[in-house]
Amino acid sequence: MNRASVDPEQRHTQRMTCSGLSGPDAEPIPVRGHHLLCAVCVAGGCETPPCGIEAVEGLLDALWEYAYVPIRVSADIEVNRAHYLDAYEDRGERELPDGYEDRAADYAGRRKDLEVCRLLGIAPGSVLPAWALYMTLFERLAGVRSVCATGDAQSDVWPRCPHAEAGYYERIRDAAPTSLEDQTEQGEALDGHGRWAMFRMRTREDMLTAKDDSAGFIEEDADHLYIRPQHLLCILCTMEAQDPLIQDNLVELRKRMEEDPDIPVTLVEGCCMVCDPCNVYHPGEHVCYTTHIKNQLRDLNILEKLDLEPGATLPAGELYARIYERIGSLMEVCGWGDGLKTVHFWAPCGGAKGDALERARDRGLISDGVE
Ligand code: SF4
Ligand code: SF4
Ligand code: SF4
Repeated sequence: MNRASVDPEQRHTQRMTCSGLSGPDAEPIPVRGHHLLCAVCVAGGCETPPCGIEAVEGLLDALWEYAYVPIRVSADIEVNRAHYLDAYEDRGERELPDGYEDRAADYAGRRKDLEVCRLLGIAPGSVLPAWALYMTLFERLAGVRSVCATGDAQSDVWPRCPHAEAGYYERIRDAAPTSLEDQTEQGEALDGHGRWAMFRMRTREDMLTAKDDSAGFIEEDADHLYIRPQHLLCILCTMEAQDPLIQDNLVELRKRMEEDPDIPVTLVEGCCMVCDPCNVYHPGEHVCYTTHIKNQLRDLNILEKLDLEPGATLPAGELYARIYERIGSLMEVCGWGDGLKTVHFWAPCGGAKGDALERARDRGLISDGVE
């Protein structure tokens, strides 16, 4: 299947109603470590990966259907416990495990599986959401040569992959990055571009419709706002913007609260009124597949600093007065306090060193007049 050519109506339906791949209780898809890389090569144009195209087609279909699909990364590290017993002729009566011969003979594939686990910083058998997994891989592996073409070029016992120098993986990884704004503006026109050959864009029409509906509701009808704690701070980072942003509703919400500081705001965990038009928001699953992990900790860290529990409701002005009183800087929350980046999906925000919070506090933004 050419994933980028799916009928727009079908895309829309698939997006809204994911199969058993999605949802919080979805069973992880088991994938061998190096097949994760072969899938990238195939998305980049390779038609004959050594593992066979069938070994990665199912994975590519799952990624296309749901960017946050859980993946269990496998590598056969247990077969080595039997190798000594097999090689040593006086090994005694102990049975060898099922499929031992084939598993033992696949030592070159096993080495690559473990290389991928090492790059990801995980033990075999670990589960990661697909997006987090691939963004970590892309960050840590510039090219597949260092995994798939490391042995002697003439070796029969450690054969190189004939595709390792072809640039298939690199075509996906190195495509020019697209901002959230680009993605939301262009939608399916970006299909096939870099990572968007593996992960499906929302359609442009879908995002524009969501923007119109959600922004219109905030501006004209909403008499109660529902905002995640993290976004209360993001609203400050965009406080100079006067025109609405295509990719979210931060500006509309700020203006609504400036107009009416008494409007009640309920602090919700997870995606909120900000997210409707965003490309990386999955409306069917109500999840942001790029920030679902780290923003969850930030939401809770902010609630702790504000001494409020999830679901607490306060007038907007009081809420911001509390923020200005109890949070010293964005670095405390958006940079974790220590600025540490342990892995891609726990990265501090690029804006964490900014002074938007201090400037908003000085201006009394939204909180003006609240004691
Ligand atoms: S170069 Fe590596 S990742 Fe790409 S098809 Fe060959 S074995 Fe798979
Ligand atoms: S630093 Fe980044 S995450 Fe933090 S409030 Fe600003 S935009 Fe949002
Ligand atoms: S939390 Fe995620 S879905 Fe919501 S606006 Fe931010 S990037 Fe988009």
